[in-house]
Amino acid sequence: MNLSTYTLIQKIHNSDNYIIINPLTKQADIISSDEKEDIVHGRFTEELVHKGYVLDKDEEEKLYRQAYFEFIDMRDNSETQIFFVPWYACNFSCSYCYQSGYEYKSTKLTFEVIDAFFEYITTNIHSKKYITLFGGEPLLDSSHTKEMIEYFLNKATMLSLPVAIVTNGYTLSDYMDILNKGIIREIQVTLDGTAEVHNKRRFTKTKAPTFDAIVTGIDNALAKNIPINLRVVVDAENINDLPNLAQFAIDKGWTNNPLFKTQIGRNYELHYCQADNAKLYDRASLYTKIYELIIQHPHILQFHKPAYSISKFLFEQGNMPHPLFDSCPGCKTEWAFDYTGLIYPCTAMVGKTGEEVGSFYPYVSFNTALINQWEKRDITTISECSNCSLSLLCGGGCAAVAKNKTGDILSPDCRPVDTLLSMGISLYFEELPNNVDAKSI
Ligand code: SF4
Ligand code: SF4
Repeated sequence: MNLSTYTLIQKIHNSDNYIIINPLTKQADIISSDEKEDIVHGRFTEELVHKGYVLDKDEEEKLYRQAYFEFIDMRDNSETQIFFVPWYACNFSCSYCYQSGYEYKSTKLTFEVIDAFFEYITTNIHSKKYITLFGGEPLLDSSHTKEMIEYFLNKATMLSLPVAIVTNGYTLSDYMDILNKGIIREIQVTLDGTAEVHNKRRFTKTKAPTFDAIVTGIDNALAKNIPINLRVVVDAENINDLPNLAQFAIDKGWTNNPLFKTQIGRNYELHYCQADNAKLYDRASLYTKIYELIIQHPHILQFHKPAYSISKFLFEQGNMPHPLFDSCPGCKTEWAFDYTGLIYPCTAMVGKTGEEVGSFYPYVSFNTALINQWEKRDITTISECSNCSLSLLCGGGCAAVAKNKTGDILSPDCRPVDTLLSMGISLYFEELPNNVDAKSI
């Protein structure tokens, strides 16, 4: 018997120890460098065989098939996220906005388009679902936009559909009465740092600062029990302000509110050339930088606990997640619609000419061949992934990024899961107890 294809042995960052992990047999252990030497020289203990780090080929194939069917089953039964773009216009002029590279039609959203959207999703998407309003900026400050959002939320409420909203947060306070008409699942708002840093990156079209209005909007939403998902878009320009932003959120009492959560978004080049690519981080260097910041400023973990592949999951749950056969929900559990009547595979593609997979208005149509390609994309259909030992932790990455790079949806978008694991295991299992009160984790 040999080591399983999916057994990964990785040195833990800042440590003499190693992590041995097998996502197929759902095992993970921290081992010493002596134990690691024994393993790489083929000296296998009974425990290694028992835990499935060492596996017979036939047995491995059987487990793989079984896990794949379970994964498809779980995906078929999971919730679908339906994005709707009411307009691509925005009241901000952020320094890094990728949508500023698009040109949009001047048509306006109408009641008829909203009716057609709800008709389409009730007829064609039968799984459990929720809607996410996206833009541009969905909460623009005009009588037309307010009337449309109110009508949209009323329709969603009549169908008992929860709605999430991705907004820059500038007009959140003004929309509070309208939002009360919907079943609001969460509001995603972006703050890129404390006042000075944020205002340098995220300002209005007239160059007005936006930090104070957004903070008031977050306070107002939380006071009305509306969940807030605070997103921080980071690059080299603002990453060093993360400890200050974390402290700000702690001082505001946000981090103690169960309705408050956070996410860190990487500012990356997807569709449209960034003005200054030198500011952008790749995934591994961004999370190395965040690791260093957390070691120096452990209070960041009260604000945000990065996943570091499956490290956080292991730490919090004490067991392994299901093997990841696919990390891209596009055309499976995610769809994106816009006010022009077009349907796209996901948010990364919405509004991009040539990426439509169908239409819902003025008539319903599908590009079945393209939808099939999206639907079949997973690690079993991307040739590079099917031979990759990291595949069950990576899932093949993002189809949009892959297509952008190679022109082919069925190509890989490799994730540095081994490097991320090495840092995450270090942080959560070795460094953390010395840095942070475990109860706050
Ligand atoms: S293509 Fe990328 S952004 Fe779109 S659903 Fe897939 S992973 Fe997400
Ligand atoms: S995308 Fe790259 S790292 Fe991920 S499974 Fe495929 S080949 Fe492996």
